[in-house]
Amino acid sequence: MTERLIIAGGGLSGVLTAMAFARARPDIALTVIEAGDRLGGDHTWSFYATDLEASAAALVEPFIAHRWDSYETRFRRFSRTFSTGYRSVTSARLHSVAMEALGSRVRLCAKVAGIDGTGVTLADGTHLEADAVIDARGARRLDGVVLRWQKFLGREVRLTEPHGLTHPTIMDANVPQVDGYRFVYLLPFTADTLLIEDTYYSEGAAVDAAALRSRIDDYAAAQGWTIAETIREERGALPLLLSGDFPVMWKGAAPAGGPVPLGLRAGLFHPVTGYSLPASARTAVALADLAGPLSTDRLRSAVQTIARKHFARSSFDRLLNRLLFLAGEPQDRHLVLERFHKLPQPLIERFYAGRLPRAYQLRILVGKPPVPFFRAVRVVPESAALQPR
Ligand SMILES: Cc1cc2nc3c(=O)[nH]c(=O)nc-3n(C[C@H](O)[C@H](O)[C@H](O)COP(=O)(O)OP(=O)(O)OC[C@H]3O[C@@H](n4cnc5c(N)ncnc54)[C@H](O)[C@@H]3O)c2cc1C
Repeated sequence: MTERLIIAGGGLSGVLTAMAFARARPDIALTVIEAGDRLGGDHTWSFYATDLEASAAALVEPFIAHRWDSYETRFRRFSRTFSTGYRSVTSARLHSVAMEALGSRVRLCAKVAGIDGTGVTLADGTHLEADAVIDARGARRLDGVVLRWQKFLGREVRLTEPHGLTHPTIMDANVPQVDGYRFVYLLPFTADTLLIEDTYYSEGAAVDAAALRSRIDDYAAAQGWTIAETIREERGALPLLLSGDFPVMWKGAAPAGGPVPLGLRAGLFHPVTGYSLPASARTAVALADLAGPLSTDRLRSAVQTIARKHFARSSFDRLLNRLLFLAGEPQDRHLVLERFHKLPQPLIERFYAGRLPRAYQLRILVGKPPVPFFRAVRVVPESAALQPR
């Protein structure tokens, strides 16, 4: 009998997983159920070319809408250009490429109202059963974790004149520091269009959209740019993980009898950036390459292993977040990031790829971090984030 797989949620992790299964297991009857009228919502997902191993890179390749061979960072006292490639996937491209490949296997405008490990019930009452059910419906509250936020509002704008940029600016921190660590992120798409994102490493997730829009106007004016029109807007508050208890988190994310959690809801994101594209791509490839019969239990135990390893490997990232948020003063956070971006390029690449060997971790910590020594020592244990300050 044909094995059946349901993926609830056609966002980033749902689509990547569907594409990986369609390629590796064409024998499986696959259904992607998405509440919206298109796959992937309305985002720009970016990543460093060095983030992905060959198999994950091949999966993501058809979705890349923009690519650059370098990027830069700017701080008050120094700027730097890196020769690391940078890539962006857009929702529009994700939707068109995936719809062409998956066709009738995608059900749009179909809201999942009930879900467990054996099937889903749609809002219109339709019940669908499957051998394996994946829940890729996006962020949910994670248990047993302490979070802070990378929050932002981005405007894709058309200027009256060419902007003159040739590559992304991942951080322009040469702006007034408010609400934590503030920087502007720039992705030049064409000669006169670009995404300008006003971003904060902040204690709270709330985004004051009107204030951020007007700061983007001020930033554009300071560069000598005149905005002719705003083409689209995107915003988000991405989780940054300071500490966590993996068993507690996993129990909440994957209760017994439930579906297989994926993406942000499985805790599969980079603790320091909140970005999930690399982890989603790797997980998609690993699940589709699993040999043997398809079942919710087998996929859930595979994701649990991946999430546990991801959590264990990122203990240093959580320590950095504690140093950033608990040991330092909010107005000094930009100094920590400035110092980080002076490190050797291969080290920075490995850090973002989540592949930083221990010896390299020391390189990040030695020197003179701009945080008071005794406060830094206090936040080293992971439990420190849970103590009242
Ligand atoms: C604006 C923005 C920009 C980001 N930029 C980056 C970036 O540059 N790089 C990066 O790596 N990460 C980025 N992230 C972080 C992260 O990668 C994204 O949030 C990513 O989309 C998370 O993937 P996901 O599959 O977990 O959830 P989502 O992509 O949010 O997918 C969830 C999907 O489930 C659907 N859904 C929800 N409920 C139901 C339901 N009941 N029934 C059916 N469907 C449902 C939603 O409509 C959605 O399509 C960004 C996040 C945001 C918000």
